Parts: sequence; C-alpha cells; structure tokens
Amino acid sequence: MTNPAPFADALRRLAIRSGNVLDVEAGRLVGPRTLLAVDGRIEALAGLDDGVPDDALVIDLTGLTVLPGLIDTHSHLVGEVQTAGVPGTTTSAAEDAFLSVRNARATVEAGFTSVRDVGTFRAFVDVALRDAIRTGEVEGPRMQCAGAFITAPWGGGDVVGLAHDIRLPDDLRFGVVTSPAEVRERVRRLLIGGADLIKCIGTGAVLTRGGVPAAPELSEDELRAAVDEAASYGAFVAVHAHSNEGAQRAVRAGARSVEHGSMLTEAALRAIADAGTFLSVDIYDGEWALDHGVEERWPADTMRKLAETMETGEAAFRRAIELGVRITYGTDSGVYPHELVANGLDSFVRWGMTPVGAIRAATTEAAACMGWDDRVGTLAPGRFADLVAVQGDPLADVRTIESPVVVVKGGRIVVDRRAI
Ligand SMILES: [Zn+2]
Repeated sequence: MTNPAPFADALRRLAIRSGNVLDVEAGRLVGPRTLLAVDGRIEALAGLDDGVPDDALVIDLTGLTVLPGLIDTHSHLVGEVQTAGVPGTTTSAAEDAFLSVRNARATVEAGFTSVRDVGTFRAFVDVALRDAIRTGEVEGPRMQCAGAFITAPWGGGDVVGLAHDIRLPDDLRFGVVTSPAEVRERVRRLLIGGADLIKCIGTGAVLTRGGVPAAPELSEDELRAAVDEAASYGAFVAVHAHSNEGAQRAVRAGARSVEHGSMLTEAALRAIADAGTFLSVDIYDGEWALDHGVEERWPADTMRKLAETMETGEAAFRRAIELGVRITYGTDSGVYPHELVANGLDSFVRWGMTPVGAIRAATTEAAACMGWDDRVGTLAPGRFADLVAVQGDPLADVRTIESPVVVVKGGRIVVDRRAI
C-alpha cells in the first residue's frame, strides 16, 4: 500500500468548538457553536454545551469568529499571469507547474478553500493541479478549471506581443478559434480532457499587449456554440467581457457569468440583472497594479488601460449593486500575489457593497455561480467542513478576513497561526 496523501481530507470524526459563527445567509453572528464533521463533511452545527462524541478529535477555536471557507470565482493559479515579458512565454511548463503549487498553497492558506480557475496560457496545467490537490498530493483549494482560454486569434486569451515570425507551440494556442465549428471542437476537447468549465474571451483584455477592452472579439454565434456544446457535458461558460457589446452577447448566448464588466453601463447591466447572469468582479488587482505596475515594468499602454477601466469600473459596480445583479467575488489573483487574495473584499466595501454582501459574493453567491451550492459556501450539514477562523467581527470590518488565524479544509487544519 502506498502512503496516504499528505493533504487529503480528514477521514475521521471532528468536533470544532468555535466562538461566534457567521451565518452568511442570515447575515449575522449566531453565537458559539460546535461544528461536528465526519469524513470531511459537516454533520451538524450543535450548541457549545451539547455533548461531543467520545471518538471525536476536538479542535478548539473558541475566541475566534468562524465563517465558511471563501471562494474566488476568478483565479489564475497556474504560472505567472502578468510579467514584464509576454505572459505564457517567460516560464516553461515545468516552471508553470511548480509555480502553481506555490500559488495553490498561498490561496488556501489565505482562507480560500475553493476557486473557479478561469484559464491558463499553457493548456491543461490547471487540470493537473486540480487533480493533484484532489488526491491530496498538493495543498490547495478545491478547483474548477477551464483548461485554456477560448479566444479569437490575437484576442485577449491568445499569446500576443511576440515578434510576428515567432511560432508558438500548440499548447500555448490550444483555445484559439476562428468559427463556431472550431469553438465546438475545442470545447469538447477541453471538457473531455478534464476541464470543468469553459472560459471564453468575449472582448479585448487590459493585460494583453495591444488588446482593446472595449472591442468585442468572439461573435455571438461563437459564444452560443460554446454554451451549447458545454451544456452537453453539464458545464458552464464564463465570458470575459469589459464592455457592453461583449457582455450583451454573452448574456444572449446563455453564459453563466460575465467576468470583469469594468465598462458596463445601464442597458448591459440591466440585461445581466434580468437574465440572472452572474457578474464576477475583480477590483483589488487593478488597485494593486496601479500601485506596482510601473515598478514591475509593465508597458505604459497596459497602465493606461488599467487606469481607464478602474475609473469606469467603480460606476459599473455601484450600478450593478443597485440593480440587484448577482455579483461574485473575483480576484484575477496571479495579477497580484496570491497570498493577498482576500484583499479585494475591502475593495468591494469601498465601492459600495455592505460587508455581508462582500462575504456572500465570496461564499453563497460564488458557490451558486459554480453550481457548487450543494457542497461549499455555507456551514450547513452535508457541506464540506471548509472554514476560516478570524479575530474580531468580519461584519464590522471585512479586513479581519485578510489575516485568517486558522483555515480548515475538508475537516483538516490547513494552517494554524495561533501559536506563532
Ligand atoms: Zn482573468
């Protein structure tokens, strides 16, 4: 028999005695509880004075506030997303894989026990990472992953910026498509190859060399082909779209989520709200990049696009809240260091969301967007025993979540900073 995987879920009975528990759905602290778990799943949320089974391992988190493990609906755990060079070409496949191990650990240690990973330049490295986490060989969050980007040639998911006569290997251009038929073929290969969802690049991207965020790239027919083909495999489609036309094509095509939405105005936001499409928003990456991009030697054109989309992004976000759009917490982490993945919660609050709204965006709403509301996002029986323990009251100050004291995933302590 081989040795058990070091980072597998805890296959035993646990009793986690906690201080205040945050009921995310109710939006309030419900007092101390004992969370009973078996085989990595929650069995019951009992009173602190209720009995604990004799065979249970007791974890004492009294004095800390406990909330469900957090979820990022827009991560990039593989490799380095943004560099002074052309992304995708500055690291080898082996380096991408090792960097992803580091990134996955940093993410879960920051309290993010699930992520929806929305694309890698080098196809399928994310699938390998997800599988290594799933079997317990690597420490990291539960992952849904996209396998690659479905993108127009020279679009936001292509590798752009090299000299015109450089030829790239196939795995760096796996998702480049030129017709609805090609979309179907690539979507099928991605999903049969192990991807969980499909990520389409619907408009230009801020970080892609020369990309124009306002410009629609994939056609509505291509997006429709992706949604239709993915549906055959029970998979959702996330569409990167900064501007109105790209977002409205995504909504009409039946996308599960629009990503970024930084330039959206009234009609597109209403369309998103009316369709019940999720809007995955990332703010802190832009704030971090405006502070650090110049010292990181990012191109001036990228810095200009960042400033412009951050400016319009705030108004779009505030209006989306007013219209009742189902906003989920995205980060684009990889653009900034993965250990800072929780810092965007405070960005959501500064741009007008309530603290509980921001926490829901990163728990219940994120789980719903992923189709994972039966397993993560709340501390309810049957869900994974994924939780974060923080000091203080996150409803009064979401920044308490930036420094989790203890993180538990699947009933196993991932990090415990109490003794340090
Ligand atoms: Zn992204």
